[in-house]
Amino acid sequence: MNLSILYRGPLSSCNYGCDYCPFAKRQETAAQLAIDEKALTRFVSWVSSRSGDRISILFTPWGEALIRRWYQRAFVELSHLPHVKKIAIQTNLSCRLDWIEDCNKSRIALWTTFHPSEITRKRFVAQCHKLDQRGVRYSVGVVGLKEHASEIDELRRELAPNVYLWINAYKRVPDYYTPELIKRFTSIDPLFPVNNTRHPSAGLECHAGESVISVDGEGVIRRCHFIRDPIGNIYEPGFEKVLLPRTCPQPSCGCHIGYVHMNKLNLYDVFGDGVLERVPEDWQTLRQ
Ligand code: SF4
Ligand code: SF4
Repeated sequence: MNLSILYRGPLSSCNYGCDYCPFAKRQETAAQLAIDEKALTRFVSWVSSRSGDRISILFTPWGEALIRRWYQRAFVELSHLPHVKKIAIQTNLSCRLDWIEDCNKSRIALWTTFHPSEITRKRFVAQCHKLDQRGVRYSVGVVGLKEHASEIDELRRELAPNVYLWINAYKRVPDYYTPELIKRFTSIDPLFPVNNTRHPSAGLECHAGESVISVDGEGVIRRCHFIRDPIGNIYEPGFEKVLLPRTCPQPSCGCHIGYVHMNKLNLYDVFGDGVLERVPEDWQTLRQ
């Protein structure tokens, strides 16, 4: 079985304070963090036991996970399992990076995000250059706020040319962008118009729930992070029977981690092996 898993454990805290985020500067007690560690340990052990499958994993924590040593350890351990194809994580890249040397680097990838209110561009780019030196595959992203447009231009100039910089559209305010700003952001991220759309999805085919699933700290399976109804539990025998082709019950889908799996958009052709970490197969060709 080929399966991609978006894992989100109980962790819900962050060392950053982005003002649009519910987890900003949220702290957890030692007891709460221990619950998250225990859930992750159980998940890693379950993945280890699935040696007959081919598994890819994207950690999508509520908050920042890579500052926690148990996520670093999980990355190292999972990257060495022969049946794990890919292990990726969404991160603000504020963590130390030395532990990466213990990973099988050919199997890891980082989905990094730059938060201009929390870290200087200089420090963030320095972290990216360390990833370049260590030979780690990664994408860089930023929320496309109007007030950050110049910072985004500079970031593009300072990143290595082969690194894909994605811009997440700010969709909370209707008609937020002028045509000029859409053009400016599209010249940096050729896929910005795809993200700047809530894709109608009701009744349309989507791989979520079939070859890609969302799993929480208790092993509960949901089709994706946007449909709350559970469909099974990975820790129960025979869970595979719930993995079926289905159509989407939601009116629309507006996040990369969701719409990338819709058949209609053909984004698997664009991202190839980089679907989970959001690295298009050949982003510079898309830009031309
Ligand atoms: S880094 Fe991410 S999780 Fe942390 S406050 Fe900012 S947006 Fe939220
Ligand atoms: S289209 Fe989006 S909301 Fe619908 S099933 Fe797929 S990922 Fe989930």
